[in-house]
Amino acid sequence: KSKAQLFEKDQSKITFDDVAGLDEVKVEVREVVDFLKNPTRYTRLGAKIPKGVLLIGPPGTGKTLLAKAVAGEAGVPFYSISGSEFVEMFVGVGASRVRDLFKKAKQNAPSIIFIDEIDAIGRSRGKAASFQSNDERENTLNQMLTEMDGFGSNTGVIVMAATNRGEILDSALLRPGRFDRQIYLELPTKSERRAIFEVHTAPLKLAHDLNLDQLASQTPGFSGADIANICNEAALIAARRNKDAVEFADFMDATDRVIAGMEKKNKIISEGE
Ligand code: ATP
Repeated sequence: KSKAQLFEKDQSKITFDDVAGLDEVKVEVREVVDFLKNPTRYTRLGAKIPKGVLLIGPPGTGKTLLAKAVAGEAGVPFYSISGSEFVEMFVGVGASRVRDLFKKAKQNAPSIIFIDEIDAIGRSRGKAASFQSNDERENTLNQMLTEMDGFGSNTGVIVMAATNRGEILDSALLRPGRFDRQIYLELPTKSERRAIFEVHTAPLKLAHDLNLDQLASQTPGFSGADIANICNEAALIAARRNKDAVEFADFMDATDRVIAGMEKKNKIISEGE
């Protein structure tokens, strides 16, 4: 992902088939697809189409993937930006960037704006331990609220945002007319992990006796992102071993490697605190 870009516009090719598990969540976001595709079905009865949908869940559970799938299913452009990039890159100009982003999305409506890590700008006031001045962050946040309040519910723009930490968000964001839809994602269950393994092993050349149930059993607590990672590591390991297909043993070694990577990351995080 290029850090130089303000936001990426992308015509997402991702669909709900790429998202494994999360059946209840998919039911909720299918509604969003319909808001984008058939707005008049709602507006002719006087209904206001929701403007903001907040996806809340642990890292790697598919929040970004899901938002892209909504854009892909609806066939609309997807403008994305991450809250932490905002805070790091746009010192002094955050508010005007928000304005630009909404302007572009409105010009190309129907469209989706996706704000990853919204907590980086939308943290509740007073709880911010930021190297950036609070005024700046608040200006950015306020501009976002102004934009969301300013556009009518039939503009055709839906803002989706993601966070790992719903509890630290400023309550102003959650008010009616803003992110009043909240959707919770959980770490995958065993059968969901199996489904995620299915998606991510589909492009691989697998040994015939590979047992996906067993892989799902041996990965409790793993996220979809971890599983995607394991599948690719397994293929890399098998290739290095000059195999013609990826075998169970490769997946086991890949799992160990992914666990070691997670432990290292946790260690760095806890030492940094
Ligand atoms: P973060 O909070 O770290 O930004 P996220 O919840 O946005 O994470 P994604 O970026 O959507 O997670 O997931 C990363 C990758 O993990 C996806 O691109 C996909 O390859 C895989 N993945 C995650 N969840 C699923 C799922 N339910 N089905 C299939 N693949 C998944």
